[in-house]
Parts: sequence; structure tokens; C-alpha cells
Amino acid sequence: MTAAPRHGVSKGPVGGAVGRREGGRTDGGAAAVVGAFADRYGERPDGVWAAPGRVNLIGEHTDYNDGFCLPMALPVAARVAARRRPDGLLRLHSAQAGGAGTELGTAALAPGTVPGWARYPAGVVWALKEAGHRVGGADVYVDSTVPTGAGLSSSAALSCAVAAAYDGLYGLDLPGPETARLAQRAEHVFAGVPCGIMDQMASVCATPGAALHLDTRTLVHRPVPFDPTVHGLGLLVLDTRVAHDLADGAYAALRAGCERAAALLGLPALRDLPAAGLPAALTRLPPELAPLVRHVVTENARVAEAVALLDAGDVPALGPVLTAGHASLRDDYRVSCAETDLAVDTALAAGALGARMTGGGFGGCVIALVPADRSTAVTAAVTTAFRAAGHAPPAVLPGDPSAGARRVW
Ligand code: ADP
Ligand code: MG
Repeated sequence: MTAAPRHGVSKGPVGGAVGRREGGRTDGGAAAVVGAFADRYGERPDGVWAAPGRVNLIGEHTDYNDGFCLPMALPVAARVAARRRPDGLLRLHSAQAGGAGTELGTAALAPGTVPGWARYPAGVVWALKEAGHRVGGADVYVDSTVPTGAGLSSSAALSCAVAAAYDGLYGLDLPGPETARLAQRAEHVFAGVPCGIMDQMASVCATPGAALHLDTRTLVHRPVPFDPTVHGLGLLVLDTRVAHDLADGAYAALRAGCERAAALLGLPALRDLPAAGLPAALTRLPPELAPLVRHVVTENARVAEAVALLDAGDVPALGPVLTAGHASLRDDYRVSCAETDLAVDTALAAGALGARMTGGGFGGCVIALVPADRSTAVTAAVTTAFRAAGHAPPAVLPGDPSAGARRVW
């Protein structure tokens, strides 16, 4: 496995070059986006919408197994200023992508025809039209604080912000899960990036001071109170700033492995295997599939355990659940890497109550639940350990549970 430091260029099959925002700037408000829109298009936008990036507290690699997860929205978000156009043209510009922008006819949109970053917003318009919504063109200006390619779902933030903008521009009034499904279709089918539904559901439906308990089969979801500051704690998001190039192929292989295991067990999905049935099921599986199934089943159980603890107000007890989740991803699912393992081990040694890699794996971010007065020490310890191991120091983002997609101007 080779490390590919993210030099401001996205991973992914046809990703356009997008500059990284080091440290995940949290900027103040929509006024700047309104001004930038007016500079570019000569008029003020009809509105500005925002959709956040996310981290997943627990429930990793469960969404494509019809399972459960517990993501939350981050303060970093994609902002989209937009103005309805009567002529069917879709004009797109991103502050991060730069350049002259892109102009597309909405009538001719088809999967695989739009290259670069524009495929995400174009995919949203395509998905809306496919679903029978009467939508046309728009002028769109994007400005996002979500770092790209860090596993914080900058792509879902972008797609969901555009979906929220179209919902507002065209008066669609779509329910949150429907918006999320359309944004996922945009990413999966139109942009050609396989992904589950968790990212979009988190970006659309999350609420401040809570995590989102999500059943990915039914999209039934519920906010679960999670406000670490009330307990003298904080959630740190440590971006390792590496994306190992194994990630895309490995994701497809893991997903296929889970589907094969479910078929061998005669189940619609691994979600349908209860924890009590795990020992017997493991004896019926080939050795390469057994650990995958063990991860998925125990991870679904960890989501249930985490939700019960948070409902009971026992936020500190979430720590060991996070750490157990990391061990499962490292030892059974085998999607961690040297950098995420180092960040987790160092954070724990420096006083974190729990820590785990979050996201698909092979790099990306680690979350750590830390006593507020240990936050600086944990960050310093991880930075020192990274330097000693020859890695660039991680970027640190605040993990305050934030709002989902909304109109901000
Ligand atoms: P992640 O979603 O984990 O950040 P992805 O590789 O799935 O990583 O998505 C990153 C891609 O999303 C970028 O390469 C780009 O195409 C698109 N993207 C995200 N944010 C922006 C933005 N602000 N402007 C333009 N494109 C963006
Ligand atoms: Mg993404």
C-alpha cells in the first residue's frame, strides 16, 4: 500500500483538482458568498443554502449492509448561492475549483457525460428530473469549508447543498430522506462514485447537539442527544491528510465480500444476522469472509450500545465503544493504516476516552473523545508522534455536532 499525500488534488476516478482547505476553515456567514455570486453573475442570488460535512461516531461499513450508523454533522459546510434561470442552462462555479466555471444544458444531462467536480451538482439536477420534478436551469456559486478527500464527505456536502438550493429555487418542499436519496443517486449513478446513503442522510437530516441514529435500510432516523461540551468533553477530528490509493478498489472488494457472505448465509443483507447468530454463521463462512461478517455484526451492535449510552446521558462511556470499533476495523475489516492506528494509539495514551478511524479507511480522519482540558495535550501528542514517524502533522477540526442542510440567506 503506497501513501498518497493529498496535494490539493482529489482522489477518485475523474475528480477535478480542488484545493485543500487546511484545517477546515469555518467562515462566518453567507454574505461573502452573496457578494461572490454577484461578482460572477452580475445579479444577486435568490438565496444561499448550506449543507455540512460529517463524521460517523460509530457504524462504519454498515450502510451498504442495510445496517445502522450514528453520524453527525460538522461545523464545516458547503455553501451554495443560486439563482433560478428560465432558459434551462446550468452555470456552475466553485471558489475551490476556480477556473472559468462550467455551463451545461439541463435537458441533455446523462450519467457519465460531465467530467470533474461539475458532475456532482449536475447529477443532482439530473436526479431531480429523473424523479419527475419540473426543474430547469440555475446559476450556482459554490464555496465550501469542507476539506476534500479527507473522508468528511465534501462531495455529499456539495450535492446536498445543491439539492437544498434546487428545493428552494423550485419550491419542491422535498422531505429530508428524499433529498438525501436524490443526492446519493447523483453521486452514485451520475458521477459514478459508489457510496452508501449515510453521508447524504447526515448532511441533510442532522441536528445541532445530536448525532443521527440511522437505519440505512428504511431511512428511519432519529436525533440522539450528543453534546460533549456539557460533559466537559470535546470531539476532536484529526485529519491524517493521507489517502492511500488502495481505497477505491478495496471498497468495491469489501462490499462484494459482504454481499457474497450474505448470499452464502441465505440472508438479504448482513443486517439480518443478529449478534446471537454470529458464532454459528462464522463456521459456515470461508476464512476470508468470516472477519468481514464479524465486523459488520459487532459494529451494528456497537451502534445500538452507543445509542443506549447517549440516550442515558452517559457520554463518557461512548469512549470504549469508539475504541472497540477501531480494533474491529483494524483487525477484522482491515481498513485502517499506519497513520490512523498511530493517531488512535497516541490519542488514547495522551488521555482520550476513546478514539477510532472514521470513514471508509486507508487514511482520512480519526475522531477522539477527549476531556476538554486534555484537548491541547492530545493534539500535541499526535502531532509529535506523526513528526517522529515522518508524517506531516494532522490537521485538527472541531467536532461540534452541527445543523444539517438549511437555507442561510
Ligand atoms: P470526500 O467526499 O471524502 O471529501 P470525495 O473524493 O468523495 O471525497 O469527493 C471530493 C470531490 O468532491 C472533489 O474531488 C470534487 O470533485 C468534489 N468537491 C467537493 N467539494 C467541492 C467544492 N467546494 N468545489 C468543487 N468540487 C468539490
Ligand atoms: Mg465523498
